Amino acid sequence: MKKIGVLTSGGDSPGMNAAIRAVVRKAIYHDLQVAGIYHGYQGLIEGNIQDLAIGDVGDIIQRGGTKLYSARCLDFKEEAGQLKGIEQLKKHGIEGLVVIGGDGSYRGALALSNHGFPCVGVPGTIDNDISGTDYTIGFDTALNTVIDSIDKIRDTATSHDRSFIIEVMGRDAGDLALWAGLAGGAETILVPEDPFDIDDIAMRLKRGRDRGKKHSIIVVAEGVMTGHELQQKLMEKADIPTHVSVLGHIQRGGSPTARDRVLASQMGAKAVELLLQDIGGKAVGIRNREILAYDFNEVFDGTHEFDESMYKLSKELSI
Ligand code: ADP
Repeated sequence: MKKIGVLTSGGDSPGMNAAIRAVVRKAIYHDLQVAGIYHGYQGLIEGNIQDLAIGDVGDIIQRGGTKLYSARCLDFKEEAGQLKGIEQLKKHGIEGLVVIGGDGSYRGALALSNHGFPCVGVPGTIDNDISGTDYTIGFDTALNTVIDSIDKIRDTATSHDRSFIIEVMGRDAGDLALWAGLAGGAETILVPEDPFDIDDIAMRLKRGRDRGKKHSIIVVAEGVMTGHELQQKLMEKADIPTHVSVLGHIQRGGSPTARDRVLASQMGAKAVELLLQDIGGKAVGIRNREILAYDFNEVFDGTHEFDESMYKLSKELSI
């Protein structure tokens, strides 16, 4: 292999730039040429491709977002779009591709691999929802952003004796809500993995009030319901007034934490190592501190493991 490509796709996450940098520098270290594909699969179909040199990825390790931009591209879900993409890759002399993104992006990468074009996936998503890897790039940064917000909301909640609902991202995975709720000392954490019981939440809030607790924090993952829906239910069913704070896209931004930068560097480098060995159709992951590669199919056949023991602990500590 003489030349590889790299793109970022789907929802952006902090640390994508550090991963791009690692791919480019590791490739150049091994005398490979690298091309950046801009705007994800859309840019691939359109041939929005430029060679990258060492200096092109300088001064980006600390930046949020993605230098290569991201996009969603419906055409790439169809075979015709994928074949157009392969045509562009061949036209630019690219023989292997690193896709940095979430599980949707992985489906595109798997499609290319199934067409005989070697592709490797690097998990870039704040949701930590990719099966087969303990962590994804961006999760740690988003988590720290949420904790920072919870701490700030706690100040005003305490000053005014208020109960706050904080809605965080996470459509199908409650990792962000769970970790942030535990680290932020939330009284209640609602995750998509566990059916919620409004009476139980009301009981917890009332129990806290009865023993003199005047404020409380409820963290809800968006996949369960919106913060405003929960607010309405608590009012209707238990006559408990709450304030709602929807954190939204601030969770996606910001300078990546040291942990995300290191993870992105390790994973980006691993992806290049795989392509150097002509290995495609694989996702890069981390399990028990080991960076490894596993079949894309494992991502789609499995479900991301939710940490039940941590969830139980969060309940025990918020009595
Ligand atoms: P994420 O990668 O963050 O999960 P999406 O689910 O939006 O984000 O997927 C990103 C892009 O990946 C989509 O816009 C599309 O171009 C591509 N993609 C998603 N699903 C498929 C699929 N089944 N086949 C081919 N490409 C897909």
